[in-house]
Amino acid sequence: MKRRDFIKNASLTGVGLTVGGSILNCAENLSEKTKNETTMALNKNKTPIAICTWGFVAANAKAGEQLFKGSKALDSAIAGVAIEEENIKNTTVGKGGAPDREGNVTLDACVMDSNGDCGSVLCVENITNVAELAKRVMTETPHVILAGLGAEEFAYRQGFEKDNLLTEDSKKAWEDWLKSPEYKPLINIENHDTIGMLCLDKDGDIAGACTTSGLSYKMKGRVGDSPIIGSGLFIDNEIGGAVATGMGEEVLKTVGSFLIVELMRNGMSPQGACEEAVRRITSKNDRYKDFQIAYIAINKSGEVGSYCIHKGFTYMKYQNGENNNIHSDYFDKA
Ligand code: ASP
Repeated sequence: MKRRDFIKNASLTGVGLTVGGSILNCAENLSEKTKNETTMALNKNKTPIAICTWGFVAANAKAGEQLFKGSKALDSAIAGVAIEEENIKNTTVGKGGAPDREGNVTLDACVMDSNGDCGSVLCVENITNVAELAKRVMTETPHVILAGLGAEEFAYRQGFEKDNLLTEDSKKAWEDWLKSPEYKPLINIENHDTIGMLCLDKDGDIAGACTTSGLSYKMKGRVGDSPIIGSGLFIDNEIGGAVATGMGEEVLKTVGSFLIVELMRNGMSPQGACEEAVRRITSKNDRYKDFQIAYIAINKSGEVGSYCIHKGFTYMKYQNGENNNIHSDYFDKA
């Protein structure tokens, strides 16, 4: 589907399927039978959907196919993003991710489930599947976040294998960077490929995962938005979910994913909510000219939206056996 048609269709569907307060208000005037049918339509979306940031075809297909077979939203999202965590050619996620400026690869990830539970790991070394590790924090500890060595030791206790995340290629690229090591924490089109994934399963439940090696050659200990619930990812199963990629510091300052879900709660479409979240950043000053941020979002009725600052962001959408790469609309048309 062309981008233009996509937006048109999304907004047309939005007329009849607004989520949250507005549909419930309308429902007050309906008969009991119609009310029940309306609730079923909202909560029992039989067509599973997987969306993820960027052109991660295989990862999104994996999640979409699992959803189609009946797997739950969170398990599907984690299985999907694991493809990129294990892809050593991807220099911004998992094994093969660019190291910090001292040569250590440190990973960040979070997951959020449809029951509102979440887990997160920050600055973890030597573990590839950090989204699964974030899930274990959620299910196997009384906590939400584990950081650094504590997260790594917890991983070994959970049976994760120790792995060297610095590949020959990423080591060589870092050594080249060291020849003129300018510290410029700007995220451009070439060096941000965090995978954030949102899944809507056959039961109509939404969950998501977000996993990254963060900014290339970052300061030791730097953590961005990706593992921070509300910034890199947020889910409210009554409303929808959102994920972010790009300049994490700016997403953190506006709690972008939470903002999008709250805007949808107040009646906005996923598309409108992503646009407003980008506007919160671009309206502050003109520093946005130097960095990219992109959001994708889904609501309970399966409408999808996406918006970014600069041209170039794409995302994947799997539905009904089709896995499409869609060009996002963007703010800076100057
Ligand atoms: N958001 C990530 C971070 O700031 C970077 C990215 O999306 O690639 O760490």
